Amino acid sequence: MSGHRSEEVVIVGGGLAGASTACVLGRKGRSPLLLERDSGPRHKVCGEFLSIEAQTYLARLSIDLDALGASRISRLRLYHREMQTEVDLPFLARGLSRKVLDEALLEKAISHGVRVMRGVTARSITAEENANWIDAGPFGNVRAETLFLASGKHDLRGVKRSASGSINDLIGFKMHYRLSTQQRAALDGAIEVILFSEGYAGLQLIEDGVANLCLVVSQERFEQAGKNWSSLIERITRECPLLADRLRDAQAIFDKPLSIFQIPYGFVHDPTLVEPQGLFRLGDQMGVIPSFTGEGMSMALHSGHLAASMFLRHGCTSADFHRKMASDIQRQVRLAFLLNKAARFGPGQAALFHLCQTWPSLMRQVAAFTRIREGSMQSALVLP
Ligand SMILES: Cc1cc2nc3c(=O)[nH]c(=O)nc-3n(C[C@H](O)[C@H](O)[C@H](O)COP(=O)(O)OP(=O)(O)OC[C@H]3O[C@@H](n4cnc5c(N)ncnc54)[C@H](O)[C@@H]3O)c2cc1C
Repeated sequence: MSGHRSEEVVIVGGGLAGASTACVLGRKGRSPLLLERDSGPRHKVCGEFLSIEAQTYLARLSIDLDALGASRISRLRLYHREMQTEVDLPFLARGLSRKVLDEALLEKAISHGVRVMRGVTARSITAEENANWIDAGPFGNVRAETLFLASGKHDLRGVKRSASGSINDLIGFKMHYRLSTQQRAALDGAIEVILFSEGYAGLQLIEDGVANLCLVVSQERFEQAGKNWSSLIERITRECPLLADRLRDAQAIFDKPLSIFQIPYGFVHDPTLVEPQGLFRLGDQMGVIPSFTGEGMSMALHSGHLAASMFLRHGCTSADFHRKMASDIQRQVRLAFLLNKAARFGPGQAALFHLCQTWPSLMRQVAAFTRIREGSMQSALVLP
């Protein structure tokens, strides 16, 4: 298949950002080429918590979360050492594995005429003023007038981000479990957030009654646990006996946890950097919100919709798009960055726990500031 081809629009990455752009463009009669590294559906490190904003975008793309078996989550339970407190969420959240969700979006894109090439990795990109060249290995070189870069957290050769100021000493892990009947019933309807020394975890149900445990921990703490997952979990459950109860008699579904290193939390692409007009950075390539607030997916979907809408309206005007995106997410990422810091260390954890316990409405308001604003969403959802 090697050779050269020329395309009007190419999307690199078929996660939430790339697939949502593809769906919007496909619906409007465009037929972009989407290159996705993975050859089939796979699990990804993610808390799998879908906020109301993420649900709104997915509903617009006709993704039926009920049909996909998403769980329902209406309460947040916070654990710190032996203590727990519970608050109602300000919306009904949903839980769904990324394996199922990302696949549903890619299938939707295909049904709208998008050409999805799986198992194709963009190795490097050469961005020129009037075109972007993608070296796609054995697939060949692709010339794209417009390139939507949606390859997730890590950098791609030729179009590296400047991630100064971001935190990248955290490791993310994800493990799926089958809980005992009793523990599953106790978890049903809630997301449980566990604060432990140098990290935090989220536990919730997803489809088929499976529980997802997703955590971030400092590299140092992981090293102290001998870089060993079982030993890390043993130490965390010793610190938090309530999590130990939840995981008693649980069966791990994967042989080993999925992990991700060097997450550039807090990064927001600088829109004043001079880049070619035809290069749109989406999702985590545009900004990486710390996962404590469970907003990364809605931001990825927001970027996908906004980029497609602005492209359909004005063509290759990525500088305007980057400016608008930065203003839509900057405040949220900064606040989530601070919350993330607090959630990692003792005094901050104690303060967060105390606030949640004594002033839940204030916590809800703080959390609301980490979400995409209604007005920003409306402008992304209006299509020409
Ligand atoms: C520990 C952790 C927990 C999180 N929990 C939540 C949560 O509960 N709720 C929430 O809303 N957000 C959460 N997030 C954030 C969320 O997962 C991301 O913000 C979101 O996945 C970003 O979407 P994306 O499309 O930009 O990237 P991705 O979802 O990472 O998709 C990128 C895609 O590009 C493909 N790709 C990569 N490189 C190439 C290449 N060179 N060529 C071709 N294809 C390529 C990948 O295979 C992938 O399919 C969490 C993040 C972390 C790290």
